[in-house]
Formats: sequence, C-alpha cells, structure tokens
Amino acid sequence: MLAILHPDTPLDSDAYRTTLNFLENLPGVSLRFHEVQGAVQKLTEIYLLGDTKSLDKDEIAALPAVERVIRISEDYRILGRHKDDLRQNGFTYNDVTFNQNNLNVFAGLCAVDVQEHVDIMMRALSERGETCTRMGAYKPRTNPYSFQGHGKGCLPWVFETAGKHGIKVIAMEITHESHIEEIDTCLEKLGRPTGVMLQVGTRNTQNFELLKSIGRQQTYPVLLKRGFGITLNESLNAAEYLASEGNARVIFCLRGMKTDAGQPHRNMVDFAHVPTVKRLTRMPVCIDPSHSVGTRDRAPDGLLEVTHATAQGVIAGANMVLADFHPKPEKALVDGPQALRMEELPAFLDDIRLCHETWKKRREIYSNQGGMASV
Ligand code: PEP
Ligand code: MN
Repeated sequence: MLAILHPDTPLDSDAYRTTLNFLENLPGVSLRFHEVQGAVQKLTEIYLLGDTKSLDKDEIAALPAVERVIRISEDYRILGRHKDDLRQNGFTYNDVTFNQNNLNVFAGLCAVDVQEHVDIMMRALSERGETCTRMGAYKPRTNPYSFQGHGKGCLPWVFETAGKHGIKVIAMEITHESHIEEIDTCLEKLGRPTGVMLQVGTRNTQNFELLKSIGRQQTYPVLLKRGFGITLNESLNAAEYLASEGNARVIFCLRGMKTDAGQPHRNMVDFAHVPTVKRLTRMPVCIDPSHSVGTRDRAPDGLLEVTHATAQGVIAGANMVLADFHPKPEKALVDGPQALRMEELPAFLDDIRLCHETWKKRREIYSNQGGMASV
C-alpha cells in the first residue's frame, strides 16, 4: 500500500507526527520513504510493506498528513502503474523533461574516439536545436582485445565540448560503480557544463550490485537497457531495483533481443513492447534502433531499415530515441556498420518528429475509446 502525503508537508508538523505515529505502530508493517521532487513541490510517498492486506484504506486516507492512498500490486511497487494510480510520470533533469508523453532524441557516438568527431557531432545537434546526445566512454566489449573506450581520460573534453554546444544531457554507459564518481568529480571540477544520464547496458541489466549503487545516488537519472536474453518482467524488476534504492528517475530502453530469429537484424526488434512498458509502468520508454537493427541496410523504398524501426517505435509512443551516428562510420572504433552519417541527421530528426506527431493524432482518433485516459 502506498500513502501519498499532502505536498510539502512539514516534517515537524502535528499532522506529520500523528500520521507517522499511526503508521509506525501497524503490526507486521514496515515503512519505506520515497521523496519525489517535482517542478514546484516535494511529494513524500510512504510505502507500507509487509502484511498490508487487512489494512483499511479509508482509515489510512483519513490520517491528517495523507492526501491519498493507493493499493499497489506486488510488481514494480515504485515504478509500476497501479489501479487508480494517477501519480505523475517522468521528471526534469538539467532543464530537459522526460515523461511518457514527450520525446527526446539522443543521437551521438556509440564510442568517443577523437575530439574532432565529438565536436562535429555536437555541433550538428546544436544546429538542429537538439540538447541531448549519447557518448560512450566506458565500453563493454565482447572481445577483451577490442577497444574498451577512453574511460575517464576523455571526460573533460567531452563535457567541455558539450557545454560549448549547449548539450544538456549525455547518455553515457557505465560498467562499474567507480565510474559514477569519475563522472561526478569531472563534472564538478568543470562547473557542470552539461549533465549525464547513466546508462546501464544490456549486459548489466541484472548486475544487481551495480544497479544498487546507481540507485543509491540521486544526482543522475538512469537509462536502463532491457536485458537481451531475459523476460520483460525480469528487466522491469531490474528497473525497480534502481527505484527501491532511492532513484526513480529511470528511463527504460528497448534495444532488441538476442535470437537468431531476428536475423538478418543484429537483434530481434522488440518495439511492440513500447506501449506495454508504458501500460505496466510509469517510466518513459526509449528505443534503440541502432543496436536492434545493427546494419545500414536500405529497403527498396529508399529508407534505411534503422529509420523504419525508429518510426515503428516512435509511432507507438516511444519517448526517447538513442541512435548511433558518426562523422566517418568507416573509421568508428565501435559499431561503425550501424552508425548513421551526419548528413542523414536532419531527415532522421524530421522523420521522428513526424512520427511523434502521428502518435498524438492516433491518440486523438482513439480518444473516445479510452485511449487518452491511460497515459
Ligand atoms: C550501447 O548503447 O552502446 C550498447 C553497448 O548497447 P547495449 O547495451 O544495448 O548492447
Ligand atoms: Mn554500440
């Protein structure tokens, strides 16, 4: 059960004390506190865990500091979308808003290589008014002898270049908890010219100790990739690990499933799950067409299959697109064969906006059938 307190309830008020006193004395029930900082107010949510079946919802709703009570199902307690659950979804980080209704594009380098390429990429984005990108500094590689990323060494010039071009958020994969501090120390030293969204790669979706470390910090939001060989439920539980440790600013990313059935794509494109994840949870949903399709193959209609897959995800309501680009894909140190070229960026962005607008229109078409109410 979840008790949501009136916004900005003072912790030293009688209402708060009376409420807490009651809740703390419920037999077999333990409390877990979760604070949600919205744009204008702070919300305190108290999760009642344990033997809650016999609790009287109305009695708890009548406590002086309680605004409303939600009975939650067992799955995805914090991130889930529960019955009668009208809690807002999404968050704002570094002036960029992420929720289940809007859309942000993170086009960028799979792996940071040289400063010139980072600069070309970020300049192209800023010329198009884009404020987000992806930049891999720590690369998890199948082969131990492959390029592993520049690591912390490249952070200063990547962050400075981002600041120069007005980039507000960089999605950056981390593979070890020590990387959080490396990123934080570097950003702090530079006066925080940009922001970082910590990316958990598909190989680490169930690295629970990494998830807990990332969940314990509140500074950076998280982009969690779906595990490539596990069920959707298992990946959503991985996201809940982050939230259960305190960080509910999580975006869930579909990136395809590893199976030969997906060939000739690199992975089996799973973007039909975009609306499913939005139904089961309140997380914004990202799609990664680059790692799903994994090639630059072009369909007879003249469009790359990567762009077709992107359109399929966005038209189904995706809220974020993570896409590999490179000024010289043939020179890229990681995943060059799937990278789009700089000159392909404007059309790619236009296509995505068109598909997002089309998704909104699709909602209107179905609005008298309950379509608008659920998002
Ligand atoms: C990536 O986005 O660079 C990446 C390694 O993706 P994934 O974890 O989905 O393979
Ligand atoms: Mn990659």
